[in-house]
Amino acid sequence: MSGADLKILGGGVCGLYAAHRGLDLGARVTLFEKEASFGGLASGHQFDGNWFDLGVHMLHAFDREIFETCRDAMGPERIEVPLKSHIRWGGKLYHYPLRGRDILAGIPPLTLARCLTGLFLAEIESRYPSRRPGPDAESALIELYGAPLYEFFFEDFTHRYWGIHPSDLSAEFVRRKMPRLSAIDVFKNLLEKLRLAKPRNATEGALRFETLHYSHTGSEALPRSLAKSIAQRGADLRPDSCIEKVSHDGERIRSITVAGKEWDSSSSQIISTLPLPLLIQSLEPAPPPEVTAAASRLRYKPMTVYALLVRKERCMEALYTYYRDRIFHRVGEPKNAGLRVTPEGHTTLIVETTCEVGDDKWNGTALPHILADLESEQLCAPEDVVSHHLIHARHAYPIFSLGFEKSLQKVMDYLAQFPNLISTGRQGAFTYPNMHSAMRMGAEAIDKLLK
Ligand SMILES: Cc1cc2nc3c(=O)[nH]c(=O)nc-3n(C[C@H](O)[C@H](O)[C@H](O)COP(=O)(O)OP(=O)(O)OC[C@H]3O[C@@H](n4cnc5c(N)ncnc54)[C@H](O)[C@@H]3O)c2cc1C
Repeated sequence: MSGADLKILGGGVCGLYAAHRGLDLGARVTLFEKEASFGGLASGHQFDGNWFDLGVHMLHAFDREIFETCRDAMGPERIEVPLKSHIRWGGKLYHYPLRGRDILAGIPPLTLARCLTGLFLAEIESRYPSRRPGPDAESALIELYGAPLYEFFFEDFTHRYWGIHPSDLSAEFVRRKMPRLSAIDVFKNLLEKLRLAKPRNATEGALRFETLHYSHTGSEALPRSLAKSIAQRGADLRPDSCIEKVSHDGERIRSITVAGKEWDSSSSQIISTLPLPLLIQSLEPAPPPEVTAAASRLRYKPMTVYALLVRKERCMEALYTYYRDRIFHRVGEPKNAGLRVTPEGHTTLIVETTCEVGDDKWNGTALPHILADLESEQLCAPEDVVSHHLIHARHAYPIFSLGFEKSLQKVMDYLAQFPNLISTGRQGAFTYPNMHSAMRMGAEAIDKLLK
């Protein structure tokens, strides 16, 4: 559909890749992003001359076509990094994902025996169709791993991380978000080999031992390079352009109001990557109350990153380490992945905390607690921390609360009446892609609209 007028709302990696695909298909592309730079969750933040990611962001090469586009756009800025991550568990550091021998060494023998028995019983029970798990994450986890392992490993951590007990989260959360415990898979494989368990797809999104892609300036290089490449190909990229209103006549989207200016969009094709509730709020006339109510039930877990400059050559061995019983759930040291840090003899830490807007973690008043936990983990002493800055993400993680599927369906069914609009990406489809999957979503949406 050469010459189509394509408008993209939101300049995260999904929107940027959608623009790239639109240009491939001969469209005229305009992309609106509310921030001054592109990249959304994957963008970088510069403080005191150093770059900080919003949680260390590395590109996976699973999707060949997308990887090659990013590789070509980044050129020599791209560096390859072997994945090295740890998890702190039971007072010790283990490789993450957990390996079989880590589990054997890390769990007290009696607990291990209980967990294995539970795992085995869960496998046997899953053979009876009448024993289908309930719709919540707690039932799904118990069905997958057995009650003892659920209680030992998942229950408390999930509750603290999300602020929601697994019994109030949807089972879909387990399928889409929970990283697979590879050590458990080891045992499951053993049971399968002994024909004591049937082969099943447990969870998706497993972390693997793989080569990742990064840059000496962190995650910012990827969206910056993509934006540069699509601008050179003729896309009209508009930073500092907040979408205020999306007007329709019940059949098509007719116009978009951006920073006070109305853009006629009657004959445009539109991709929205904005958070779904924001898109619904910006529609004029407003959708029926049941749709607005459904959209307001789609909630996101905010996140605050404490970006620290530390007077120390190095704080940890891994790229990042997961913590189960600290105020933060993950700490990354991107220098270990090749990030350039100034001045010499210093490093940076990216300390990730899930939070609520306005709480101590969000406001920064949790800093003493953060510093104390970093010291307890022997990462750095409070006096080593030269400066700290906060990076906020209101829409970090969609919350798959119990019954969210119905609300999402209601909103998507409503939007389906507009043939010139697709809402996609992490925020627009209310899902959990990695960067490459978010970019794939952008490409697929374009194919649907333009082909
Ligand atoms: C802590 C963390 C770590 C992660 N680590 C990795 C990793 O290592 N590797 C990986 O592959 N993935 C990682 N991800 C996932 C990845 O960041 C996201 O899935 C991906 O960046 C989503 O891209 P998106 O474009 O769909 O959404 P977003 O990046 O959220 O983009 C949406 C865009 O819309 C803009 N916007 C919002 N409202 C408006 C408005 N009114 N007007 C105009 N623009 C607006 C936003 O500013 C934003 O730029 C991580 C995610 C998190 C939270």
